[in-house]
Amino acid sequence: MMKLVYADKDDCPEITGSIHPNDFPVGWRKVTAEEFSRSTFFTYSPTHIEYRQMQNDDHAPSVHARLFHFPDGTGVAMSSDFWAKEVHYYKFGCDHKYDELSREESERRGIRHHGMCWHVYECSECQHIMSTDSSD
Ligand SMILES: [Zn+2]
Repeated sequence: MMKLVYADKDDCPEITGSIHPNDFPVGWRKVTAEEFSRSTFFTYSPTHIEYRQMQNDDHAPSVHARLFHFPDGTGVAMSSDFWAKEVHYYKFGCDHKYDELSREESERRGIRHHGMCWHVYECSECQHIMSTDSSD
């Protein structure tokens, strides 16, 4: 169970804390319900939940969405079209492209590697490091 606690601007995730309150976070993209069903939303707990009203300079209607931020700097979002009775799904941040690092490479770079079933991956786009134990 998670208890939500209000976070002030100093505690906001970098991806939206560093931009204008009405700007879209980097990597903002609409996804299908099918893509959303396989998103991190159903695997990981969010670190932050944010309500955001975003607007482009092209006078398109603004997007009012609930954003869910994850520890890897990415997130998913949902908005609803009340009158159309539709939900729209989005992702933002890097679309990670992971390459596995060997134990030697990990140790050379000071990244903990536990051997055996431990796997360390680095995103070739944003250099985010993700580790997982495949024996779980
Ligand atoms: Zn990435």
